[in-house]
Amino acid sequence: MDYEAEQIVLLFFPEHHNVTLKSTLSVSGGKTYVTSEADILTKKGKHTESMDGTDLSKRDLGNLVKRSAYFALSPLSPLPAPWGILTGVRPAKLVRILMEEGKTEAEVRQILRDVYLADEDKINLAVSVALEEGRHPRNRKNVCVYIGIPFCPSRCSYCSFISGTGAVATQEEYVRLLLLEIKRTGEIIRELGLSLKAVYIGGGTPTSLSVSLLEKLHSGICDFLQVQENMEFTTEAGRPDTVTPEKLQILKQYGTNRISINPQTMHDETLRRIGRRHTAQQFLDAFSMAREAGFDNINTDLIAGLPGEDFSMYCHSLETILSLSPESLTLHTLYIKRASALRQSGEPVIQVPEVADMLACTYRSVTEKGYLPYYMYRQKATVGNLENVGYAKPGTESFYNTVTMTDCAHIFALGAGGVSRLLLPDKVERVFNFKHDDGYTHDFDEVLRRKEQFYKINQLM
Ligand code: SF4
Repeated sequence: MDYEAEQIVLLFFPEHHNVTLKSTLSVSGGKTYVTSEADILTKKGKHTESMDGTDLSKRDLGNLVKRSAYFALSPLSPLPAPWGILTGVRPAKLVRILMEEGKTEAEVRQILRDVYLADEDKINLAVSVALEEGRHPRNRKNVCVYIGIPFCPSRCSYCSFISGTGAVATQEEYVRLLLLEIKRTGEIIRELGLSLKAVYIGGGTPTSLSVSLLEKLHSGICDFLQVQENMEFTTEAGRPDTVTPEKLQILKQYGTNRISINPQTMHDETLRRIGRRHTAQQFLDAFSMAREAGFDNINTDLIAGLPGEDFSMYCHSLETILSLSPESLTLHTLYIKRASALRQSGEPVIQVPEVADMLACTYRSVTEKGYLPYYMYRQKATVGNLENVGYAKPGTESFYNTVTMTDCAHIFALGAGGVSRLLLPDKVERVFNFKHDDGYTHDFDEVLRRKEQFYKINQLM
């Protein structure tokens, strides 16, 4: 009960200061009751929720606790809660579970509205994502390969990933070892008879590698993984200042057919503030360079809730990006882990209601233009418990992104910090690479040894 109640406290009081909440369970007359009493300095709130039955399922009992806490706390907080009591990192998962239990779409919508107290926009979002996810059933014969490049030209102030700028020699050694790992992985994929469905090179910023290292990496991937034409192959080109015609040509030559160029905002002042060493114009230039190079599947990332940005600034960024008609747009809500420089700097963080409006406005603007939400997740420290959503024009969705949400195929993750996900018959097992690129290069024998764990997926195949 404590966990459920705490989720709701965090929803309304993210900093958790001076909040006391006591939830009490009782049973009487064939019903279960939960009473929550909240105390925030001088303000108090109390609410009792009940449900028929005395032997409730874990889910029903958890919801009862959350609802009573929600109604006790919501009058005391200025923060909106558009997701109601639907907490957790994958909000669409509940929709899929309810549908798998045999509920119709109309019934699911009603449950989200009446039991989970979600807004209509969020219900539309969750149902839309769940329907898209449902198109990809679990298949233990399929695999995606993720390759991490832990280098960036500078560090964004909101970033808590393991990335560094990396001296040239460090990068060379890293790519040399990474290619060995890719080679061994390719052999394992063939020995297990798996079908490679997608390759995703992320980071960090893969295009921060030099032209020659980028070429070595991509040519190695093609050879060792035997990349087929038309297979989904994404290379993140996140920082526009790392994109050049030569690098784009290499990506194209070796089969990359989806790239991601990420402005995050179209305001130079914000870009400076968050430590990104590029301008909005550099993003526009990189985007048109990519189009000229023949890329017809480009994703762009945008962040809602950046410091110093209000609703109209955000809308300007969104409209500018949409005017370019990228195939997909990933909208992130600012996520500040404790380790990030932004949190340590004490920069004022934008108000949750304004970020919620940004997200709602995005949903309406992009769906009007024909994009559909197809993957969604939340992170625990995200401002206001709000979501990150991948929108795409139909037919340009990234299968890899869907797999990260649904575990419908194996993910073999290579490079520093990679976390592989093996679909065993009854569970998903994670295999971790060393988090730090130093650990990765210094103990590479162990990195290779852990690859042998991939054979576990043969059990009961
Ligand atoms: S580009 Fe991404 S990985 Fe690199 S510093 Fe910025 S947020 Fe971190």
